Amino acid sequence: PFDVLVVGGGPAGAGAAVYAARKGIRTGIVADRFGGQTNDTLGIENYISVKETTGPKFAADMLEHVKQYGVDVMNLQRVAKIIPASEPGEMIGVQLENGALLQSRSVVLATGARWRNLNVPGEEEYKNKGVAYCPHCDGPLFKGKRVAVVGGGNSGVEAAIDLAGIVAHVTLIEFGEQLRADAVLVSKAKSLPNVTILTRAKTTEVEGKDGVVNALHYEDMATGTTHRIELEGVFVQIGLVPNTDFLKDSVTLNRFGEIEVDAKGHTNLPGVFAAGDATTTPYKQIVVAAGEGSKAALSAFDYLIRSSVA
Ligand code: FAD
Repeated sequence: PFDVLVVGGGPAGAGAAVYAARKGIRTGIVADRFGGQTNDTLGIENYISVKETTGPKFAADMLEHVKQYGVDVMNLQRVAKIIPASEPGEMIGVQLENGALLQSRSVVLATGARWRNLNVPGEEEYKNKGVAYCPHCDGPLFKGKRVAVVGGGNSGVEAAIDLAGIVAHVTLIEFGEQLRADAVLVSKAKSLPNVTILTRAKTTEVEGKDGVVNALHYEDMATGTTHRIELEGVFVQIGLVPNTDFLKDSVTLNRFGEIEVDAKGHTNLPGVFAAGDATTTPYKQIVVAAGEGSKAALSAFDYLIRSSVA
């Protein structure tokens, strides 16, 4: 059995594993795909002290760091469910999809999230070639260029305001009758001279040329007409979905499916902690996830030294 078993091998899980293993306790990571979202990231320029790296290099560095401490890494394994301890201090069960049952005195959940896709032609093909999902990450790459933001909720309108300060022009595209963001954000976006807002507009295609995005097509739902906007970037902001379906019956989630955690990473279950994009902690970023993972591991250690079971 493990002292700390981490579920998820992204920045949050790796951060948790390094901190747990450095306490000299039995630490494991079980991950569907070690590296998580960083595997899909082209360039990372905002991890403090690392001026520039690529996602796959970052993921490989995390794996090396974790292995240096002898963490038992079980990659390409999905967890199907968590079986809470019968009472505080007892073993927690971690059931894998392949049927195996792992046991641990504490668990850190770090299963991350995934961006909801538009599912229109060109989106997949031009990912990282003009199609982006994270304004904090990729905004500066579009300095002085023209972009669209698809999605008129809080994250879309925030992205439009944020990007308007960097890029030449932003077209904000909302499918519904009106923007769904907070009124203060909507009026801010409307006040910006380089932001155009389109409502009742359905994105139908991302067009590219020479391997990069050069236009976006949309249908005006009011008239049924189709239009083409020339631009260099498309930010998709239609939701971030936490990978927490398998926890529905055991762990308290909020209405977005995020694991509810307190400031120390405790969930509702004794001995079960959580960190990163899968949780209610705001700002889904690598540096935030890694920091939260380390906090969750320290909380797990604190729990272990206070629980009576040897
Ligand atoms: P994730 O990275 O999502 O990792 C989750 C882990 O859990 C994975 O190993 C996954 O396989 C595993 N998992 C999920 N479900 C299960 C299960 N049931 N059983 C077992 N394992 C499971 N952030 C930045 O700070 N800078 C950037 O430049 C940047 N660029 C980005 C670019 C792209 C294209 C994307 C998609 C994201 C980007 N982000 C960036 C965001 C950043 O990647 C995330 O905030 C960060 O990876 C979250 O870390 P995490 O550990 O919480 O989750």
